[in-house]
Amino acid sequence: MYPDEFDYYNADSIDEALELLDEHSDAETELLAGGHSLLPAMKTGLSSPDVLIDISGVEAMQGIETDGDTLSIGAMTRYSDLTDSEGVAEHAPVLADAVRQVGDVQVRNRGTIGGNLAHADPAADLPGAALASDATLVVEGSDGEREIPADDFFFGMYTTDVGPDELLTRIEVPSADGAVGTYVKKPSPSSGYAMVGVAALLDTDGDTVKSASVGANGVMDHGVRLESVENALVDGSLDADTIEAAAGHAGDDLDVAMMMDDLQASNEFRAQLLEVYTERALTAAMDGGSTPAAAD
Ligand SMILES: Cc1cc2nc3c(=O)[nH]c(=O)nc-3n(C[C@H](O)[C@H](O)[C@H](O)COP(=O)(O)OP(=O)(O)OC[C@H]3O[C@@H](n4cnc5c(N)ncnc54)[C@H](O)[C@@H]3O)c2cc1C
Repeated sequence: MYPDEFDYYNADSIDEALELLDEHSDAETELLAGGHSLLPAMKTGLSSPDVLIDISGVEAMQGIETDGDTLSIGAMTRYSDLTDSEGVAEHAPVLADAVRQVGDVQVRNRGTIGGNLAHADPAADLPGAALASDATLVVEGSDGEREIPADDFFFGMYTTDVGPDELLTRIEVPSADGAVGTYVKKPSPSSGYAMVGVAALLDTDGDTVKSASVGANGVMDHGVRLESVENALVDGSLDADTIEAAAGHAGDDLDVAMMMDDLQASNEFRAQLLEVYTERALTAAMDGGSTPAAAD
């Protein structure tokens, strides 16, 4: 299928992208990052922007830098650059694990971390990892920068705190500093997206859990933090019984009636998957982190 006609602009800088957004504020405008959600939506007629602003080449929004205890990732950094990065594997293990499980090699060669988070597909793999990593999402508009904690970033299906006149420019992740991170998902048999995905970051002192951060995607209409699971883990000993008991709290703060309910899985089934995949994520973390092979 062919998309409707649109005007295409290529932005070379953040300022130029913001100026273009301002100039076309009356039109339906989309930002083009990796194009791996937007272009299928345009080809199937789900999205018909009048104006496309290509931000994929904005250099200031690319690359991975370590700044003290913080890893700063440009929003236009592609998944393949993240999977190749030793810094991401070391400082942001839960994010690294999730990125490895996005789509296939073609998707990972084009898609970007910023596009994934800004798009906020309920079944995408990165929201849970951003939440479990305590990431901060930095957006920029004509009034300057805003720093949004991942906990406050996702509003609902395809909806975030990024305003129509703003760009997500970078993602800042506090260094895991030796904590173990994992992401496990039940992939949709047809699309590979997460029917349920759980990201966990555990820091231990001997056998005792010092801190735990757990996020999930695929379950609700946006990524969620599983605080009841975290509370059940902290100060406990990291063993199979504690993990099983903690995973039993996965749905405590979530309304089953509001869970995703589609042809792939009912909301009740998703509630069961959430508990099972929370236990798997925590068990994988206890075992030192999972290193699943990337899909072809
Ligand atoms: C075959 C296939 C399989 C896939 N499998 C998975 C999977 O298993 N898991 C998964 O998580 N994803 C999957 N995806 C989606 C993929 O990860 C996309 O790359 C991602 O969802 C969007 O990132 P993008 O860079 O391609 O953004 P685009 O498609 O270019 O943009 C998506 C949306 O985000 C907005 N946007 C982009 N960048 C910014 C920004 N910096 N600031 C504000 N708004 C912005 C755009 O306006 C647009 O509305 C798959 C895609 C395909 C085609």
